[in-house]
Amino acid sequence: MISKSTIDQVFETARVEEVIGDFVQLKKAGSNFKGLSPFTDERSPSFMVSPVKQIWKDFSSGKGGNVVAFLMEHEHFTYPEAIKYLANKYGIEIEETEQSNEEKEQANERESMYLVSEFAKDYFHNTLLKTEEGKAIGLSYFKERGFTDETIKKFQLGYSPDSWDAFTSEAIKKAYKLEFLEKTGLTIVKEDASTGSATKTFDRFKGRVMFPILSMSGRTLGFGGRILTNDKKAAKYLNSPESDIYHKSKVLYGIFHAKQAIAKEDNCYLVEGYTDVIQFTQTGIHNVVSSSGTALTEEQIRLVNRLTKNITLLFDGDAAGLRASLRGVDLILEQGMNVKICTFPEGEDPDSFARKNSLEELTLYLEENARDFINFKASILVDETKNDPVKKADTIRDMVVSISKIPDVIKREIYVQECSRIMDISEEVLFNSLAQILSKNKKEQAKTTSKNSEKPFEVVNQQTQPTEKVDVKFQLEMKILELLLLYGDAEETFEDLILQANEAGEVTLVPEKKELKVHQKVFLDLQQDEMEFTNPLFQELFNAIIENYQHETPIQTDSFIAQLEFEKAKIITDIFMEEEKYQLHDWERREIYVKNKKQSISQLLNETILHLRKLLIAKQINSLAEEINQKEEEEKQDVLQTIFEYKKLEVMLSRKLETVIRRFE
Ligand code: ATP
Ligand code: MN
Repeated sequence: MISKSTIDQVFETARVEEVIGDFVQLKKAGSNFKGLSPFTDERSPSFMVSPVKQIWKDFSSGKGGNVVAFLMEHEHFTYPEAIKYLANKYGIEIEETEQSNEEKEQANERESMYLVSEFAKDYFHNTLLKTEEGKAIGLSYFKERGFTDETIKKFQLGYSPDSWDAFTSEAIKKAYKLEFLEKTGLTIVKEDASTGSATKTFDRFKGRVMFPILSMSGRTLGFGGRILTNDKKAAKYLNSPESDIYHKSKVLYGIFHAKQAIAKEDNCYLVEGYTDVIQFTQTGIHNVVSSSGTALTEEQIRLVNRLTKNITLLFDGDAAGLRASLRGVDLILEQGMNVKICTFPEGEDPDSFARKNSLEELTLYLEENARDFINFKASILVDETKNDPVKKADTIRDMVVSISKIPDVIKREIYVQECSRIMDISEEVLFNSLAQILSKNKKEQAKTTSKNSEKPFEVVNQQTQPTEKVDVKFQLEMKILELLLLYGDAEETFEDLILQANEAGEVTLVPEKKELKVHQKVFLDLQQDEMEFTNPLFQELFNAIIENYQHETPIQTDSFIAQLEFEKAKIITDIFMEEEKYQLHDWERREIYVKNKKQSISQLLNETILHLRKLLIAKQINSLAEEINQKEEEEKQDVLQTIFEYKKLEVMLSRKLETVIRRFE
């Protein structure tokens, strides 16, 4: 764990404009900087960085936050990774908090394994480029495959010399410990039969060309090595064995180089192996990764899910193994993602096809041939089952099983309709069979997760919306004033929810705690969103109260009211009187009320502000929608876009509100 003082130091030192400047070209615009959004493909800049506030805001994606949030969004770092990146950039020494000896040992061990792997990557790469053997055998092989120098450098391809322990002895000479060479699988250690006790070491990847496998943040985790001789007994591809740093089910080859393109294109191509990824990238399609010779796993899909909701599976021309690979489809659907499938012509794989075609041709091919999973299943299964009713029934069942994996009810319904159309069978029958499968799934889920409260399917939100009969906005604005007046001076711990990705890669809203006085919190929140009260009287009162807090605390009720005009004075008096009532008459109720209120002022405030923001946004959306009719054609698009942005923000706020309310209950 990184110590709090290191984190504080990082935040004090890091300048948001400098950090972002490494990734986005920024131009001065008033007191801010402006640039093109790195998250979308826009032509006019709507990405803003505020050096004063040390925050950034991307109006085209709705994202925003502090410097760490930027690195998490843009580089897809985890929180600790972002802190480490910044510490490194600003030369801040990272202080780790106390760890148990065991934890320390484990961390050190993993760290040593990373170091050994890093060394190996450089060693293989240099051997490929700088030694006679490497150039004659490894480099010429890659050239024959059509890889350019740039590609070879980008993917840090390498060569492991064809001798028993050339790599191992070089590593030992450089003081890397045999223990970690063995643990990473780079070196195989065997008892020497002739001496009985001493051991012998062998390079695992002897005589192979090397593909380093990098983590999302660019650390070397393991290797794939391809044999170059025609040895029928040896495997064509050999991979690093499972270790503390390399879990093959959790990595995707190419993810480090592809992550930004995947997010930007909002789609991820999934291919079979190293050479497919490399050839695609070289041709100009960068959003591509591979699961390297294993069946697609849940964890791998989750890695992609961090970046996009869309996956396109690319398969070889020969249909062998296709059915087995289709299992990956259901895993993807289960995570609420969209999946398309594209096959290549007979005898071609993504590698060979990309090599033979230009970027334009390849792009066109992918566009024209990527089919939705349901159409795809229909097409390959239909050919085989044309005149066989039993097989046709199997196919339909298979499709319905896939549909049942989709968490979203509306999407499921659309696919049922699609399936009904393609397979020429009534929707009613399909829905019946879907219902059966769903209830069976539910039962199984209940069995396996009886302790775990996770719900198998999204439950319709039961939360009752406040009926709009009372003027909700009025009530909320009043509530904010009330909290300000009665508790403005109280110091509270506020939880803000910020977007954060955990180690497993899921992005969640994570609470961030902050000590603030209530009036400071209200002020910051309202100011940040440039939110105004809809009731002008309230707005004036708000300004007056805030000003009062800035000069003196607590509020002197009498003198404060005395300076106000009649109407405003009445509002304030009402608020105080309301409170007074409890104190005078209703002791029991007051006890409960005040106690609860005090305990939960921060939640109450958060909830109130979020509610209010949501209402204001809804209002904004409505007025934009009305506005649109009076607009010229070309302006309509802009307004629509703005509405869209607000809609997204609304969804986000709803999520925050749900979380706040859940905590509140
Ligand atoms: P060839 O030159 O004979 O076509 P290749 O190197 O292209 O050989 P293929 O057999 O065509 O390899 O396999 C296609 C892809 O599958 C390759 O990119 C490779 O990375 C991947 N692959 C094949 N076997 C394995 C394996 N055992 N482990 C990891 N990846 C593999
Ligand atoms: Mn091949």
